[in-house]
Amino acid sequence: MLKDINYKIGVDLGGTKTEVLVLKDKDTILRKRYKTPSGNNYDKILNNLIDIISEAITIIPKENEFSVGIGIPGSIDTNDLVQNANTTSLIGKPLKKDIENSLKMEVSVENDANCFTLAESISGACSNYGLVFGIIMGTGCGGGISINKKIRSGPNNIAGEWGHMSVNPHGHDCYCGKKGCIETLISGKGVENDYFVRFNKTLSMEEIVYGAKDDDEKCLIVYNSFLDNFGRVLGGLISILDPDAVVLGGGLSNIDDLYTKGIELVRKNAFHADLKTPILKNKLGDSAGVYGAAWLSKEGN
Ligand SMILES: [Zn+2]
Repeated sequence: MLKDINYKIGVDLGGTKTEVLVLKDKDTILRKRYKTPSGNNYDKILNNLIDIISEAITIIPKENEFSVGIGIPGSIDTNDLVQNANTTSLIGKPLKKDIENSLKMEVSVENDANCFTLAESISGACSNYGLVFGIIMGTGCGGGISINKKIRSGPNNIAGEWGHMSVNPHGHDCYCGKKGCIETLISGKGVENDYFVRFNKTLSMEEIVYGAKDDDEKCLIVYNSFLDNFGRVLGGLISILDPDAVVLGGGLSNIDDLYTKGIELVRKNAFHADLKTPILKNKLGDSAGVYGAAWLSKEGN
């Protein structure tokens, strides 16, 4: 009888914290945050993930089956190796296989922006929409696509990965080696760097946003450029994908102007005079990543 209960483990691997969740059917029976090992060391990160998952497994009664889904700041390429991770020690490493060999079971590993988009599509801001583009605007900038509550990965597992599209070859340097990536234009680090390059002074994203509200001239230049870039890159994205809805996540999604001035600028830049695409704030907040990871096993059901 116990086998009918559906247990799911979700793990959200972040740069500074690693979060784990255990679902028993729809109930959350464990949610815990751990520090991600510092030092950008693959073995330490891998062993920490295995320890966290092993500990979570101990609360599931032995007779029950369960799934494990993991969201990572990158994705698994066609050779089963990590690609495009901003935690660079993961790049080229067989993270999925190493975890599977240790746990002796199959696990799902997906890009964290995909997990965010999936969660918001299943039970967040976009539960009434079919084709959803999810954007994480935090320290970096990631994206994901879900279609009818399933992640669209694509043959290269890079669907939705728009953060490192270079839209300005004369723009600021990006850590990926290119210049003027979307991440340099609309992420927290990107906007802070823009301020530094223009005015040779370090201000945090928060200080820039508040400075602009107080009509500080320098902050306004950087902030308006950020909003303008948001409108341009999202207008272009909507012209390509024409999604039913766009959902914003990450720290910058709390900037109210994105849903007023930002949307106007998107409209101005999309190739349609009367754009109605809803651009929505996330509903699940910080929880989307870890729930999306747990729900990865819904895929294909
Ligand atoms: Zn880049």
